[in-house]
Amino acid sequence: MSRLAVVCGGSRGIGKAVSRLLAERGCRLAVVSRNEDAAQATVASLHGADHLAFSCDVSKVQEVQQTFDTIYKTCGNVSYLVNAAGINRDALLLRTKPEDMVALLHTNLLGTILTCRAALRSMLHSQGAAIVNIGSVVGLKGNAGQCVYSASKAGLEGFTRSLAKEVASRNIRVNLLAPGFIHTNMTAELMEEDGVRSVPLGRFGEPEEVAQAVLFLLESSYVTGQVLVVDGGLQLAM
Ligand code: NDP
Repeated sequence: MSRLAVVCGGSRGIGKAVSRLLAERGCRLAVVSRNEDAAQATVASLHGADHLAFSCDVSKVQEVQQTFDTIYKTCGNVSYLVNAAGINRDALLLRTKPEDMVALLHTNLLGTILTCRAALRSMLHSQGAAIVNIGSVVGLKGNAGQCVYSASKAGLEGFTRSLAKEVASRNIRVNLLAPGFIHTNMTAELMEEDGVRSVPLGRFGEPEEVAQAVLFLLESSYVTGQVLVVDGGLQLAM
């Protein structure tokens, strides 16, 4: 039977590329995002059949629990969980609105914690289950204009390492992938020329290049509690 992979934030960008690659590798996909039509459009573009789209705001406790309950009932136990749902609200701290701080922490950090908790019980019944959370290189290094975003991503590092310790005895692995600049909607408004100058490889990455690294972490049966940086060398220059 094919493995069930849940990709939160799978409707576009990095999550969509991950969904595509996992479907090509024979997984059955549950694609989650707030906009159901967009998740449905991703599902329609995937290789193979039987994939499903779910509308869910990962920052909402009850929505997450209900969505995962529906996923188990409809599709069975979760083998892979990829947390790629995320937002940015770039601004200097003094100009960051409190509601943006709450949205960043609730979506990027709490959202990932909630989906992991909701998925874990069913992952106990899957052989070789694995979680990949998507952090950011700025969560490791910090960045002016991204204090709260960086805090949300730095929080994911502690969460990922702790959860990896909690569930290792059940053979569930948990890793963090930290991208640099990747061509998606999130970076569409950046001045690419400025950003590229700080990247040793001299270009932004593509979502498909991140997806390859996510697949590596999902399939690497002896890797857990690690942070894999996929940034064209950006971290070296920060
Ligand atoms: P996109 O904006 O292209 O995609 C974000 C995805 O998350 C969409 O599917 C969106 O769907 C979903 N999403 C956002 N908020 C929620 C929510 N509350 N509940 C459920 N789904 C949600 O971004 P990227 O693909 O670039 O980003 C993916 C992850 O990678 C994010 O965590 C981001 O922080 C991280 N990252 C990205 C980098 C980059 O350069 N692009 C660099 C470093 C990290 P919808 O709006 O319908 O809910």
